[in-house]
Amino acid sequence: MGVANNRSIAWGIAKVCADHGADVAFTYQGEALAKRVKPLAESVGSDLVLPCDVTDDASMDAVFKTLEEKWGKLDFLVHAIAYADKSSLDGRYLDTTADQFAQAMNISCHSLAAVAKRAEPLMADGGSIATLTYYGAEKVIPHYNVMGVAKAALEASVRYLAVDLGRNNIRINAISAGPIKTLAAAGIGDFRYILKWNELNAPMKRTVTIDEVGKTGLYLLSDLASGVTGEVHHVDAGYHVVGMKAEDAPDM
Ligand code: NAD
Repeated sequence: MGVANNRSIAWGIAKVCADHGADVAFTYQGEALAKRVKPLAESVGSDLVLPCDVTDDASMDAVFKTLEEKWGKLDFLVHAIAYADKSSLDGRYLDTTADQFAQAMNISCHSLAAVAKRAEPLMADGGSIATLTYYGAEKVIPHYNVMGVAKAALEASVRYLAVDLGRNNIRINAISAGPIKTLAAAGIGDFRYILKWNELNAPMKRTVTIDEVGKTGLYLLSDLASGVTGEVHHVDAGYHVVGMKAEDAPDM
């Protein structure tokens, strides 16, 4: 859930999983994205491409009903969905309105529980769920504002859901991806500066690709990670371990 185009992190994960033999279904939000998602699905042999808006309970119900009819079960689910009003991703967090806050939290955080609840009955043999988060949940990143607060809540949700689902052998983890130029990222004020800063200061002196996030997705979604749940796993070229600007990084 969450492929918008071939730059989407969800596409990086879907592609790696499909390359390793998974049957993959896709959801898309809004008809404008259907024409981008359908050819991507076809390229990995999938014709299961379903509309889904997480603000609409009926559309989520319809997705899982179709999956039950077509497959009868689900082994894994990827939640790569987030949204905040563009005007709240600039300026001060202090100015976030109650409506902007509620929308960002609903789409970016509550939707994980909403889809996990619907996936649970299809995971009778156990399963694995992965969501996408960002370092802005842990530390203040300029302009990330309400999305940082929503991601902090998302990471806490992963821990609570891990307990709710664990006894049924369903695992749930978050991948904390470093900054990647995607459609969603374009909404964040001065995103190019964040990318450059990571490139100069991450231990590996670079940013990460959707393929690298995809490979971690494969690990967490498959039996390779059979003992791992409730975890926030960073895929950020090590950026999160660094405490200050690198000595050799130029001033920006
Ligand atoms: P993207 O724009 O490709 O994907 C975001 C997706 O969210 C889109 O497919 C969009 O249709 C979907 N979405 C938004 N509102 C929705 C709704 N109401 N119902 C259903 N779907 C909805 O961008 P991306 O960067 O691949 O984002 C995927 C996830 O990765 C997000 O959770 C994002 O916060 C997270 N993330 C991104 C970065 C980054 O730098 N790009 C870093 C860390 C985490």
